[in-house]
Parts: sequence; C-alpha cells; structure tokens
Amino acid sequence: MELIVARNREDLVKARGGGEVALVPTMGALHEGHQALIRQARARADHVVVSIFVNPLQFSPNDDFSRYPRTFEADLDVCRAEGVDVVFHPAVEDMYAPDRQVGVTAGRMGSVVEGAARPGHFDGVLTVVLKLFNVVQPGLAVFGQKDAQQLALIRRMVADLDLPIEILDVPTVREPDGLALSSRNRFLSDDDRRVALALSRALRAGAAELTPSRIRAAAREVLDAAGPELDVDYLVLVDPATFAEVDGTYDGMAVLAVAARVGTTRLIDNVSVTLSRG
Ligand code: AMP
Repeated sequence: MELIVARNREDLVKARGGGEVALVPTMGALHEGHQALIRQARARADHVVVSIFVNPLQFSPNDDFSRYPRTFEADLDVCRAEGVDVVFHPAVEDMYAPDRQVGVTAGRMGSVVEGAARPGHFDGVLTVVLKLFNVVQPGLAVFGQKDAQQLALIRRMVADLDLPIEILDVPTVREPDGLALSSRNRFLSDDDRRVALALSRALRAGAAELTPSRIRAAAREVLDAAGPELDVDYLVLVDPATFAEVDGTYDGMAVLAVAARVGTTRLIDNVSVTLSRG
C-alpha cells in the first residue's frame, strides 16, 4: 500500500482506514526510537497513522521551536520502510484557529519536575494529543517511556477524561554507549556528546543501588563528575504515576529522571528502578 500524506484534517479523515487504528504522535526528525513505536503500532493495528507536527503550544518563548529539526522527506522514507499507512502532517494554522480559547490543563502533576522547568509545556502537549486523538480517533496510541512524565500525564488524561483509547508504552531506545536517542542529539558536538553520556551513566549508577537516598547519591556523583559543561536542571526519583518524589517508605517501581543542558541543547532521560522496603 502506498503511504498517504494527509496535510489537513479533511484529508486525514478521508485517508483513515477501517479496523483498529493506531496513532503514533511525533514531532518528526524520526529516529530508531520512533521506529520502535511505529513497529509496536504496526504489530497491533490494521491501520497505522503517524502524526508529524512540531507543536508550538508546547514550546515556551525561550525554547527551541524555530530551531527544532524538521526532516520531513527523510521522515516519509522511514514511514514507508516501516509500513505506515498515513502520515498526518498538518500546518500550524490547520491545527489551531487564531481565536482558539479552550485547551487541556495538566493540573498539579503538570507543574512538577519537567513541568516546573517548562511552565505550560504539558498543557500544550495534552492539548495537541487530545486534538490528535479527536481527529484520528485511534483505538490505540503509542508513546515512549523516554518522556516518562508525558506518558504519565497522557494516561492521566485518558482516565480523567474517559477517552476510549488504549495507551501502549515502549522502552527507551539507546545508542550502544547508552545515550538515549533524541531528535535533539543532532545538535550535539563531539565534545557535547561525550559530556551528554553522563546522563545515562548517572541513571545506571543510580539504578544499581537499592534505597532512595543511595540511588540519588550515586546518580548525583556521576553528574557532578561530568564538570561544569553539564548544566543539570534536575535529578529526581519519583512515583511514575504521579511524579511525586518517593521516600524510604516507597515500595515498587520508581522512575529516576534527569534533565540537563549540554552546550545549547537540553536533554532528558530516565530509567525505572524497583524499590522494596524489605
Ligand atoms: P518526539 O518526536 O520527540 O515528540 O517523540 C515522539 C514519541 O517518540 C514520544 O512518545 C517519545 O516518548 C518517543 N520517543 C522519543 N525518543 C525515544 C527513544 N529514544 N526511545 C523510545 N521512544 C522515544
């Protein structure tokens, strides 16, 4: 089947096939992390829609909206190779009316950790994801664990707003040396890239420990050793469902998450750690 490119809602509605539809929302500049999501969608659904939309609502004025990589033709090649049925690539004006008023607010959970560093970011994410859900009407939507707080908030939105959509999450795809794949990695110089490795190394060091205080301390030590070129925004150990910090009484799976700036590029990463009080 030929890949269909839908550039507005009307085209998307015409192109959307029957049977179970899976949606993979992306901002493009596709890499193997996105491919892993697409493959899960392909394995589960009759019809796979990949959206490619750099969403201005989730960038603040200080963020990198205009610099965000846009590689549409290469993205189409990836989608063709992965057997995607439809790429939805709307213009900003097609997604957002100039007089729009109403959006989704992410609540308290949207203003902690990554949300504290990027005010309004998760409101923008949830608003565009809800709009994509409404336009595409998937039965299944696939997201990466790489953006763990985004994933938690999307699950929260599905529960709180009774959306009839199954959310599937996919483990983070990494380079052989541990660096999590990200569209922003292309901005890293060779030196930046070496410094950036401290993120995944710190998470691994933390995950090797057993108690919250030792996990945080082990990860912090690796981040500190990276020197001033690594400008750490946060390192937190949180409940994956709420993103509240965990303490020594916590039992179960927690997420160790980090954000840091390397050169002009801001990177995030996380790993799961299992805590048991015993
Ligand atoms: P983005 O295009 O960066 O907005 O990401 C689109 C989707 O791909 C989100 O659900 C991300 O969590 C997911 N994603 C991004 N990087 C990775 C990765 N390295 N491994 C797995 N999923 C990823």
